[in-house]
Amino acid sequence: MKLFAYSKQNELQGAVADTASARTAQQGADIRYIAGGTTLIDLMKLNVETPDKLVDITGLPLDKIETTSDGGLCIGAMVRNSDLASHPYVQSHYPVLSQAILSGASAQLRNKATTGGNLLQKTRCVYYRDTAFACNKREPGSGCAAIDGDHRNLAILGTSEHCIASNPSDMNVALMALEAQIVIEGKDGKRIVPIADFYTLPGDTPHIETVLVPGDLITHVIVQGLAPGARSLYLKLRDRASYEFAVSSAAVIVEMHGDTINDARFAMGGIGTKPWRVAEAEQIIKGKRGGADGQATFKAAAARLLQGARPLKENSFKVELAKRCLVHALTTVSS
Ligand code: SF4
Repeated sequence: MKLFAYSKQNELQGAVADTASARTAQQGADIRYIAGGTTLIDLMKLNVETPDKLVDITGLPLDKIETTSDGGLCIGAMVRNSDLASHPYVQSHYPVLSQAILSGASAQLRNKATTGGNLLQKTRCVYYRDTAFACNKREPGSGCAAIDGDHRNLAILGTSEHCIASNPSDMNVALMALEAQIVIEGKDGKRIVPIADFYTLPGDTPHIETVLVPGDLITHVIVQGLAPGARSLYLKLRDRASYEFAVSSAAVIVEMHGDTINDARFAMGGIGTKPWRVAEAEQIIKGKRGGADGQATFKAAAARLLQGARPLKENSFKVELAKRCLVHALTTVSS
């Protein structure tokens, strides 16, 4: 592991200023915030991440879960994954979020990992994590070992000829379906970015994964209130029952009127370079019958969501698996 400088900040403005000013003074020095460290420390040990300085933000007062006036949630970026998943209001009003978090990692990791850090979770592409291999995300311009290598668990949607890495987070899939808003404090003040605009596609710059710029700090995640009686569910398909990343997953939310689906939102994980949501797919099932009667429309919605998939040799099975995952989740939640 490369030697690095360290500072701890207990005030928001101080943390942003520390990071922003240090970048200027050191002309592009790699400075990172650190909270739970469940991704960053791992990658530093592997020499995949080699920051010059870490700014510890565990002292910032961002560890609250609060309800908003519309019945939604304001989640501090420092809220631990385990605390968010077990919060009574989250469990009763947003089961999709609680289920998604509890389906990921281990209890020990969830006790350390934070909401802000989970949003920035790094891909599990094996070549990204091994400096012996070419990887455009780790070292821009070096190539992509995964395209002709082991890519079974990588993405089939949103890929480019430069990177096919999948977003590994479960929480992010639920937040995409919930249309979360990301609150960011930066050098020029506060801004709010819808999660749909937060992640960038790899294109020819796979090392850029979000709209964050140097100095930006995620402070909160806002989730709007759901209609009374809204139902939600997270379904995760994986190679083993626990401590495993999704091969395909679906976060689904429906508002029912009798047997009819009044409104629906869903996103999928394990298949995209970012949590994947397609509004046109949701339109297909709105106003249609749910449960077992909805099979034909659910299949049509799944086909629309997977439209444009570009599978490779080892992950072509994901196209059909993802369709079945979504159809099963929609059937279950609307029954
Ligand atoms: Fe790197 Fe992306 Fe290729 Fe994996 S898929 S080796 S992360 S460029």
